[in-house]
Amino acid sequence: METFANYINGQLVSKKTDSYLENANPATGEVYSLLPDSSSHELEEAIRAAEKIQPSWEAIGVAGRGDYLNRLADKIESNLDLLAAAESEDTGKPIALAKTLDIPRAASNFRFFAQAVSQFASESHNMDNQAINYTLRDPLGVVGCISPWNLPLYLLTWKIAPALAAGNCVIAKPSELAPKTAYLLSQLCIDIDLPKGVLNILHGRGSQIGRAITQHSKIKAISFTGGTKTGSEIAASAAPQFKKLSLELGGKNPALIFADCNFEKTVEGIIRASFTNQGQVCMCSSRLYVEQPIYQCFKEALIEKAKTLSIGDPLTDVNLGALISKSHQEKVLNYIQLAKQEGGTILCGGQRLAPVGRCEGGFFITPTIIEGLDISARVNQEEIFGPVVTIQPFTSEAEALALANGTEYGLAATIWTENLTRLHRLAKQLTCGIVWANSWMLRDLRTPLGGMKNSGIGREGGWEALRFFTEPKNICIPY
Ligand code: NAD
Repeated sequence: METFANYINGQLVSKKTDSYLENANPATGEVYSLLPDSSSHELEEAIRAAEKIQPSWEAIGVAGRGDYLNRLADKIESNLDLLAAAESEDTGKPIALAKTLDIPRAASNFRFFAQAVSQFASESHNMDNQAINYTLRDPLGVVGCISPWNLPLYLLTWKIAPALAAGNCVIAKPSELAPKTAYLLSQLCIDIDLPKGVLNILHGRGSQIGRAITQHSKIKAISFTGGTKTGSEIAASAAPQFKKLSLELGGKNPALIFADCNFEKTVEGIIRASFTNQGQVCMCSSRLYVEQPIYQCFKEALIEKAKTLSIGDPLTDVNLGALISKSHQEKVLNYIQLAKQEGGTILCGGQRLAPVGRCEGGFFITPTIIEGLDISARVNQEEIFGPVVTIQPFTSEAEALALANGTEYGLAATIWTENLTRLHRLAKQLTCGIVWANSWMLRDLRTPLGGMKNSGIGREGGWEALRFFTEPKNICIPY
């Protein structure tokens, strides 16, 4: 059995007591590792180390910090196979996806912010020739970064990289359901001699160590990605301390498919947007709205394509692997049952799958398309976070827009049309943080990322992330 350790003050620290959590491989259902069930005790140690080193981390300047981040990126790249295998083992995702998306993106996160911070400038304002104002942007001190299980290293580094680049020291908490690549990252930090205490990684439960991080008075900001319910708990517990908060939460993302779309390209794109990572990407499309004239043929093409997707052992060449856990598999299957009760028809999929052999005990579900549900149905309103989409026709642009905007979420949307004027018109009116035209998950790290409504507050990415992790101070000097 592998046992993971916390990373505190530059060292791998095992728990002294026997309080460890079990971690399963979702593709087999078997427990294969243990992780520390950390508590306030470990947090205090980590905060002491982070506070002690922070002034000198800030003092080495952007070039010095960028150098460490670039070295971490190099290490991630040279350990691509090891990290991809770990990510696949921990999450059940196809290893090819981890190799081409998760791990390369973790390296890019470090490289991008190493460079971005060197270009990060503050404004100055000439005040009618009376005075000059300029803005200093200082690091906050010690910050908390809490991440989910669906893109473990990708999202952990998405937060750590800008926080460190801006001169903060970090207490990071990866998901207890997918801790392995964070543990391997601590080893890479040791390999590059990252100064002790600059980054601390604490494993354990959200309700224990996660909550302790959000409540600690020495932690000046929390960057959190995860579920909306957790986000609202964190907002409530951080508010009395006036902590800076960035919350990247759930989604229920619409795809608007018009009759003038490039049909083949759209079918391909929707399949990818719906089922990548078993539908467990916050940006995945989960509500498909198709213009009436092409509804029937688009639906048939989509079902046909969904049925060809291979599903099974994530270490082999498959399109879909396993869902993260047994309880998540149950949750998704319950939503499929609910869809039937709400009057929906399962057009394809909808079943638990038990591949023969090594993955017999894994948590698989076949790609599922559901028709006939009203926008008010719970299945159309609540985030399912699995390989499940609903499909429905629309007859006018106004109807499509009302359906797209008709949930409490506002994370991402896709529009599929060759009509550029319509694209601009709709993009402006959608209440969400990101709109992709004829594409999905095309990401430029300079762009703001985040959601409206129940999908969160604040934006990450590019300057937004560097602004979040710094405190602006205006200096006014009369001429
Ligand atoms: P989650 O909210 O259960 O957990 C996320 C992290 O928060 C984990 O590390 C967990 O241990 C920790 N946590 C749990 N309770 C906590 C508490 N009370 N205080 C502090 N920390 C706590 O989410 P999850 O199930 O890991 O991830 C799936 C969710 O994440 C989905 O809703 C998905 O849409 C969302 N997500 C959003 C984005 C985005 O960019 N908006 C990206 C990926 C995932």
